[in-house]
Amino acid sequence: MRVIVSECLRGTACRYDGGAKPVDAVQELCQKVDVVGVCPELASGLPVPRPPAEQRDGRVWLKGGTDVTREFEAGSQRSLLKARASGARLAVLKAKSPSCGVHVIYDGTYTGQLTKGEGVFARLLENEGVCVVTEDIVKSCKPSVEHPIAIV
Ligand code: SF4
Repeated sequence: MRVIVSECLRGTACRYDGGAKPVDAVQELCQKVDVVGVCPELASGLPVPRPPAEQRDGRVWLKGGTDVTREFEAGSQRSLLKARASGARLAVLKAKSPSCGVHVIYDGTYTGQLTKGEGVFARLLENEGVCVVTEDIVKSCKPSVEHPIAIV
């Protein structure tokens, strides 16, 4: 089985702050499936580290005011091509991210507040009919390769 996974959850240091966000349950899952690693923000050409980004008014802004909507969309499209080519129908993405967040993202005030919304990449996957969940679901459901649907 193939599963699309946010690179930072696998331990890749690709986050805005130069770090990773490894999650044990996701790493366990990655040992049991064929992983399609993606980082839409790296794919956008943005550097590591970089200022934090959040969505506001339908666009994506770096803290400091730079509009990076075009870069985020381009990186997400590149990651979508990779995901599509893999044939994977399930994705485990980093919660709350402006690229990878599922149903809930940071609200654009850079204060840690959340709002309803989709990450740019998560939305593209959902539009393709891919089942998209966050690491929180994986942590709570302890999926196995024999029963991968247990995480959705
Ligand atoms: Fe992680 Fe996604 Fe942000 Fe890349 S774009 S650092 S994979 S949350």
